[in-house]
Amino acid sequence: MKKVKPSSSHLCLYAGFKGTAKDLNIPRTNFWIYPSADHEGNLERFQANPDAEFPMLYISFPSAKDPEWDGNYPNKSTVEVLTFGPWEWFAKWDGTTWCQRGEEYETLKEKFHQRLLDELFKYMPQLKDALVYSELSTPLSTAWFQLNPKGEIYGLDHDVQRFKQEWLHSITPIKGLYLTGQDIISGGVGGALVGGMMTTSAMMGKDAMKVMKLLKDWRPADEGTSTTPTAPGKTPG
Ligand SMILES: Cc1cc2nc3c(=O)[nH]c(=O)nc-3n(C[C@H](O)[C@H](O)[C@H](O)COP(=O)(O)OP(=O)(O)OC[C@H]3O[C@@H](n4cnc5c(N)ncnc54)[C@H](O)[C@@H]3O)c2cc1C
Repeated sequence: MKKVKPSSSHLCLYAGFKGTAKDLNIPRTNFWIYPSADHEGNLERFQANPDAEFPMLYISFPSAKDPEWDGNYPNKSTVEVLTFGPWEWFAKWDGTTWCQRGEEYETLKEKFHQRLLDELFKYMPQLKDALVYSELSTPLSTAWFQLNPKGEIYGLDHDVQRFKQEWLHSITPIKGLYLTGQDIISGGVGGALVGGMMTTSAMMGKDAMKVMKLLKDWRPADEGTSTTPTAPGKTPG
């Protein structure tokens, strides 16, 4: 465990709006916004000074991506605005209780909350009058709700050392103990899915490549279950 470390921690603004994605001109694509190409320098400046320009903004539109959203939640939309948030800035409140962290913490949080809202409205001014609710998460929120020890967003850090660790594998030396999720493969929902598949294969004693082929060839019941290879470009999403 000493050979791996947590990935970056983050601040995330969660905002709810009145209106559909169509009404509010909300896209399905994510926005990745960087102040300049000097990413390392921008990150260093921000880590040294929380008032410095955000080194990166990721703006995402979860409700616009959900084809069933409008039927389930009419006239509502959601947006996430995410940036880096070093754990060290919040470490002194580690061990405190959610919503009971005191005025100093709330003041710090509110500053980032407003700054991220301002950034959102800079790129999407049409959302300003439609805002109904917004809330900020800090690395402490991620640690509290997710049990990620340092509020990290993507599990273990993705440095070279991490990918050299042969023990990060679904099968462990202890019989009956398996590992799974993003940390045995790579970060993100995609990594977690593949990790889950690899662990299931290991537990069932199946070759992961054969399981991958079964998944690739799978069809919904009304289309019949095919075992023949699929033509390129016809693989179900
Ligand atoms: C705000 C945010 C936005 C994100 N956006 C994206 C995105 O757009 N695209 C993308 O690909 N990824 C995104 N991610 C990352 C993605 O959520 C993770 O990569 C993914 O959830 C990892 O899945 P996992 O199953 O490996 O781990 P997790 O989803 O972290 O699941 C681990 C589970 O184990 C539980 N747990 C931990 N410790 C214990 C314990 N001791 N006892 C019992 N349970 C425990 C946790 O509570 C958690 O439920 C985002 C993450 C965050 C926080």
